Amino acid sequence: MKLRRLTSILAAILAGAILLLCGCADVGEHSETFYAMDTVMTITAYGKNAEAGTSAAREEILEKDKLWSVTNENSTLYALNHGASAADADTLALISYALDISEKTGGALDPTVYPILTAWGFTTDENRVPDDEELSRLLENVGYERVTVSENEVRLPEGMMLDLGAVAKGRASDLAAELLRENGVSSAIINLGGNVYALGKKPDGSDWRIGIKDPESEKSVGVLSLSDRAVVTSGSYERCFTAPDGTVYGHIIDPKTGYPVNNELLSATMIAADGTLCDALSTAMFVMGSEAAESYWRENGGFDMILITKNHELILTEGVEKNFALLEKNYTVSILKKAIQ
Ligand code: ADP
Ligand code: MG
Repeated sequence: MKLRRLTSILAAILAGAILLLCGCADVGEHSETFYAMDTVMTITAYGKNAEAGTSAAREEILEKDKLWSVTNENSTLYALNHGASAADADTLALISYALDISEKTGGALDPTVYPILTAWGFTTDENRVPDDEELSRLLENVGYERVTVSENEVRLPEGMMLDLGAVAKGRASDLAAELLRENGVSSAIINLGGNVYALGKKPDGSDWRIGIKDPESEKSVGVLSLSDRAVVTSGSYERCFTAPDGTVYGHIIDPKTGYPVNNELLSATMIAADGTLCDALSTAMFVMGSEAAESYWRENGGFDMILITKNHELILTEGVEKNFALLEKNYTVSILKKAIQ
């Protein structure tokens, strides 16, 4: 597992380096690939400010990784998880945002799920299946509603721990997009380990084309054409392990049971201008399952989504119907419309 991940990381970095070498100077393309937030990231920008914008965005992400890493002993999050309470404004804002979405999703997103993730070995890549007794004991320390954030500190009850893995990349993509724009870049693709932000349009003025991965193969089930949108997918197929009895367990936990999510969904993709929202909701909707995700979308709106189910159904919200082209014909497509039909 670890070796496989390392190999794919190296391959991605190499691909990025090759891209960098043949970046066509006439369009002013600049691409940087780096490792942060436990994943391979690539930022590709166009125009005369591409290099300055990309570097500024990369620096910002590396800075935030230093604050939000749950494993780095020097991070702000690590300090919070080990007794500290003071934090900078950006960290407080992200925790507060995650708690807010936790409340809105009835606890499907819960940044306090970390002790459970550790028990399943997802934080160390040394996976194991904890027994029910261990899980119920650990669940006593899970519950977003017991965390409070004030103007300059976080109050985390003893024994509880925070993990921002479900929202950090989304926030990083928003910050990167902001910095690119501030540096005068109006065309870029920010790909933070599958957490994508399509900034502006392609240099030729057409929409960006973002593939939606087929959870069961290396292909794309379809392509989304869009601009100024984040596209974020959560699924259990990327970080998972197979137990001796053959059961496959993924890295997204249902905070109610302490077990990795096992519902009818293979993946949940969110599309909106706000990358943090997409990241938070992709995890939450994946936990909630298709029916609850549909109700959430109807009640809240502000985003579009593509749900892929185990019986090869693609459920699309109406806002992206025209932007989506199906590639894999073994999927049936249904469209969710707000108006009752
Ligand atoms: P990825 O980070 O793989 O792109 P997600 O955005 O869905 O996917 O985040 C999954 C990560 O979030 C996990 O690796 C873990 O750190 C954390 N996590 C898992 N389950 C939950 C949950 N129910 N609520 C909040 N965070 C979670
Ligand atoms: Mg997420």
